[in-house]
Amino acid sequence: MARLAVVDYDSCHPDKCGGMPCIRFCPVNRGGVIAIEASRDRDGKPVIYETTCIACGICVKKCPFEAIQIFNLPDEMEKMVVHRYGVNEFKLYGLPTPVQGKIVGILGRNGIGKTTSLKILGGEIIPNLGEPDKKISYEDVLRRFRGSEIYNHFKELADKKIRVIHKIQRVELVQKYVKGYVRDVLKKVDERGVSKDLIDLLSMSSMLDKKISELSGGELQKLTIAAALSRQGDLYMFDEPSSYLDVRERLKIAISIRELVPKNVKTLVVEHDLAVLDYISDYISIVYGEPGAYGIFSKLYGVGAGINHFLQGYLPAENMLIRREPIKFLEKESFEETPAGDKKILVTWSFIRKSLGEFLLEAEEGEIYRSEVVGVLGPNAIGKTTFVRILAGELLPDEGFTSTIGMRISYKPQFITPNSIGGSEEDLVESFLKEKAPDLLKTDSWLYIDVTRRLGIHRLLQKRLGDLSGGELQKIAIAKTLGQEADLYILDEPSAHIDVEERITVAKAIRRDIENRNVAAIVVDHDLSMIDYISDRVIVFKGEPGLRGYAEKPKGLRKSMNSFLSTLGVTFRRDLKTKRPRMNKPGSYYDRLQKEIKEYYYTHPTEEIE
Ligand code: ADP
Ligand code: ADP
Ligand code: MG
Repeated sequence: MARLAVVDYDSCHPDKCGGMPCIRFCPVNRGGVIAIEASRDRDGKPVIYETTCIACGICVKKCPFEAIQIFNLPDEMEKMVVHRYGVNEFKLYGLPTPVQGKIVGILGRNGIGKTTSLKILGGEIIPNLGEPDKKISYEDVLRRFRGSEIYNHFKELADKKIRVIHKIQRVELVQKYVKGYVRDVLKKVDERGVSKDLIDLLSMSSMLDKKISELSGGELQKLTIAAALSRQGDLYMFDEPSSYLDVRERLKIAISIRELVPKNVKTLVVEHDLAVLDYISDYISIVYGEPGAYGIFSKLYGVGAGINHFLQGYLPAENMLIRREPIKFLEKESFEETPAGDKKILVTWSFIRKSLGEFLLEAEEGEIYRSEVVGVLGPNAIGKTTFVRILAGELLPDEGFTSTIGMRISYKPQFITPNSIGGSEEDLVESFLKEKAPDLLKTDSWLYIDVTRRLGIHRLLQKRLGDLSGGELQKIAIAKTLGQEADLYILDEPSAHIDVEERITVAKAIRRDIENRNVAAIVVDHDLSMIDYISDRVIVFKGEPGLRGYAEKPKGLRKSMNSFLSTLGVTFRRDLKTKRPRMNKPGSYYDRLQKEIKEYYYTHPTEEIE
């Protein structure tokens, strides 16, 4: 067994832990051999020597901040080491092999090495083969990978034979480096003469005369994707192309990438929206391991099988269990609206009208039952947030009423900052949660087990809200919302910035919360698989973004999805094994069939016909 010791130096506070018990209690140190000591290079924080450490786990337990992790990994794994950021830092094993003429999708948790792998395959980082202190060159890398499939790729990188086009994950960084108007930027990069098609396909005409500095997250995302597809390269990489986009735009970027990447190039895509990843990719590589500590890339699987293995939690080629329970879709009794019968109404609203500046929202009358999750689907700027804010009592309608006045409502807003969730930049996560939702910190509560630990919040307790990443703050906001006692839970875009595994954890926690308390939840989201997974019924928004929004009444999944997808002209079928929804290729057999019978959202699993 090989030892892997990882210290989260952000979480380590030698001044607050009571005299570094990790070092004091180390039995190896006590025996006179040093396995852990305070490091001068690290401001007195501990460094662990993997050759002498015996992985007894005592320092792991003694650290009050859960900053230390120690793993025993099989010796063979060391042959797969590709990169390590530093001593006691994140370690990457294996890489997804790019394939000429094909799109390889990458699926895995946040902090598991996906972006790192893109940087390595794109030549931005020369992998150090696990030895951060040595100067490693491409010659060493080539020697190491001789005889393996990825050798040719590194050879091309070393010989500078590949032009790499990288759509980066953090699109907001573009505003720092690129100035000017969208129209001019697109013109400049249009080496392939496709930018007109892209402007149409992605509905970008209204943003052409804006400055880059004025763009929203969604607009930046569309611009960077369009710019990448406009350029001529040999390796295309798209890191999380669906963030900030609404459900309609997601399906369109999926079609654009699929159709417009040049024919004979290599393409890599990292994506957390399963429907999008599924549609774009030919192959899938799954990254597993321990977020923040180590990541291991699986072999390439066919896209359908790969996503199914991920959902089932078992990788057959590796013989590796990556999760104990499988993720199952379609557990609901029915996709039809069940008769009201003995269901108990929790909330009702009448026909509602509300204008805000130029925008007018109208909503059909509707109701929500106890123990029900109602999903909300629709494009951006169509009034979804306005509608839930009316239900939450934050806005009063111009016409109509809701029965929510006086109810206890726990609401997670779409855009989260320390302030918007009721805290401040300076608050420590621990004190914030202790005040707002103390049950999250009680180690015997289900919330602690199913939310706090599952989402990794217990590792963030000593951080300030102002220092958290987008995904971390999202998880805190969700946990706080679910941890409060309420009659109605409203979550506006909970899946933003969090990974697939966390989305499922959140979906399960929402279900459990409302069933335990016999209340209800409304979930607005752009991840179709998540809405499918979580919702009993769905409210569909139609209209003209920015001008007019019309909310249909909640309907069963079959009717509502049909209503939503028919306006987009996109159809979905169901996977036979895992029953997850899969988007049909335009013009494919199922696409034609389903359009003919007007079933845009097949409720029955179908056999795959290629
Ligand atoms: P993903 O894209 O899967 O979310 P990344 O590849 O960005 O993950 O990061 C994997 C791990 O490596 C994370 O724990 C991250 O904190 C760490 N990491 C990323 N970049 C650096 C760096 N430059 N120095 C040290 N650690 C890093
Ligand atoms: P969604 O949640 O579907 O993205 P919103 O409900 O946030 O949409 O917004 C719908 C439209 O109303 C948008 O065009 C937005 O700019 C506009 N809007 C929202 N709040 C106000 C306001 N207070 N004053 C004027 N316009 C507003
Ligand atoms: Mg990343």
